Amino acid sequence: MNKIVIIGCGNVGMSYAYALLNQKNSVNELVLIDLDEERIKGEVMDLNHCLPFSPNQINIKVGNYQDCQDATMIVIAAGANQEIGETRLDLINKNSVIFKEIIRKVMKENFDGIFLIATNPLDIMTYITWKYSKLPAYKVLGSGTSLDTARLRFIIGEKLDINSKNIHAYVIGEHGDSEFVPWSNATIGLQKMTDFISPRELNDIYLDVRDAAYEIIKRKKATYYGIGTCLVRITNAILNNENSILTVSTYDSINDIYISMPSILNKSGVKQKINFNLTEEEKIKLNHSVVTIKNAINSIEL
Ligand code: NAD
Repeated sequence: MNKIVIIGCGNVGMSYAYALLNQKNSVNELVLIDLDEERIKGEVMDLNHCLPFSPNQINIKVGNYQDCQDATMIVIAAGANQEIGETRLDLINKNSVIFKEIIRKVMKENFDGIFLIATNPLDIMTYITWKYSKLPAYKVLGSGTSLDTARLRFIIGEKLDINSKNIHAYVIGEHGDSEFVPWSNATIGLQKMTDFISPRELNDIYLDVRDAAYEIIKRKKATYYGIGTCLVRITNAILNNENSILTVSTYDSINDIYISMPSILNKSGVKQKINFNLTEEEKIKLNHSVVTIKNAINSIEL
């Protein structure tokens, strides 16, 4: 019996719910929680009307925090969104207050499943969730740079006219402006990415990935379909015990932060991070991300 609770059912939460209905999976129950109960009653009605044509049979309902008690996973997408020109880190004060309250209410119900966080600033909100829930770190993860990695693979696939599923490249670090691509580890099929694309073009691709959210927000005020599908991909990796590798935000005990690294996911949550070599230049970039996240965590009252 797999029960998913979504807390925060705006653009991101509902895109996740919709994507969940439309991809085959093993979810039996989907519970929506939001401050705006009237709107989510409407959302439940609308989602229910997908079921006759959906590959899944899911019981969908408006819920409350008592539903968290026996949930398999809780996905949080509650909180303020980036305004035009606002960085993800600018959201820190508003969303950390909201998060402390949400986690307190969830843990009052003795939740013992897996938390998957989508709210920005992602690495900080995931850290707060871990800190306040007191759950073991393998049970708390954030969507991290999974979306940025999807954007990267799409852009390279388009450029080279190769299926994006055969682009083996990752965005790692902060889900934010200090994220980066360790190109020394990137391949297309079996060949090194750096054999195909010049350093200048690689940098242009990186900038397009890093700034994708700003470009989308400028045009349509928010981004949500991409993250909705990433959250489903992560959910399926966990529920199906896949041992799949995804760039999610996980706990880094050396620096006491959450940060994205390729990690193996299965039904216990985060099974382990993947170790790989970085060049000296990439190590400096990773350290910049670590310091950025650490400074952001230190700027809030915990
Ligand atoms: P939104 O405004 O559409 O939805 C937020 C929802 O949260 C609203 O429905 C609101 O009522 C609800 N909410 C607020 N406080 C709450 C509380 N205390 N309890 C329950 N519900 C509460 O925003 P959105 O576009 O869905 O974005 C949500 C978050 O996701 C933002 O922080 C955004 O930056 C982030 N986001 C993350 C990624 C990613 O890659 N991780 C991508 C896109 C957006």
